[in-house]
Amino acid sequence: MSMAPNLIAASENSATLPRKMRAGVYRGPGRVATEYVPVPEIADGEVLIQVAACGICGTDLKKIQHGFIAPPQIFGHEVAGAVAAIGRGVHRWKEGDRVVSFHHVPCGACFYCDRGLFSQCPAYKKVGLTAGFEPNGGGFAEYVRAMPWIVERGMIEIPADVSFEEATFVEPVNTCLKAVEKARVEAGETVVVIGQGPVGMLLMLLARRAGARVFTTDPMAERRAVSERLGAAATFDPLACSVAEEVRKHTAGRGADAVL
Ligand SMILES: [Zn+2]
Ligand SMILES: [Zn+2]
Repeated sequence: MSMAPNLIAASENSATLPRKMRAGVYRGPGRVATEYVPVPEIADGEVLIQVAACGICGTDLKKIQHGFIAPPQIFGHEVAGAVAAIGRGVHRWKEGDRVVSFHHVPCGACFYCDRGLFSQCPAYKKVGLTAGFEPNGGGFAEYVRAMPWIVERGMIEIPADVSFEEATFVEPVNTCLKAVEKARVEAGETVVVIGQGPVGMLLMLLARRAGARVFTTDPMAERRAVSERLGAAATFDPLACSVAEEVRKHTAGRGADAVL
């Protein structure tokens, strides 16, 4: 999702910020309405980010479609934008900085963090990025408020040669990279990635980056074509063949070392 940059005049500081902003507000199963909501106010140690682009996660779509969470909510957690205002005591960021912001971060010091099980960390379960209502990312709005622990440890600067749209991939790439590392994919190994939607495509690219030969599957011909163009060794239609057999044929009968 991209926001047209000219909808709100660039804000030099909080005094010139608009009071209202547009947001895609989840109002119930299958329903997201464009509404005007207050621009979040920031407290000490917090940062206001003007959203430039926000990815749409598969989990956003699931929550919206099936109504897993009580409305109202403003979703969107693959956020890239520019710092629009900083609260007192913030030294790490200044207005205009181009940033990606996570919506939650692990503490890095608990039982779970020690074992790399970050999603079980109690601090990680606390969402610290919001455009209003119960914090839930908020990237589907024009501004989001980053809370102090996100400001300190959950925002990263976007390099000058990376666009906002590209930067929104930090969160999904991060997730996929963890999977590839967990599978301990090594150079020379054979990996099969099931499905070549956006996430499957990232897994394929990251497994290749780890040095693996990667086979992919997808029932959609267009996705198989893109997959091969981006570097899959071969790609199979799971409805038209036995993927396991095909992979064995390509690996002298050994099969895959990892399947993602
Ligand atoms: Zn996500
Ligand atoms: Zn922790």
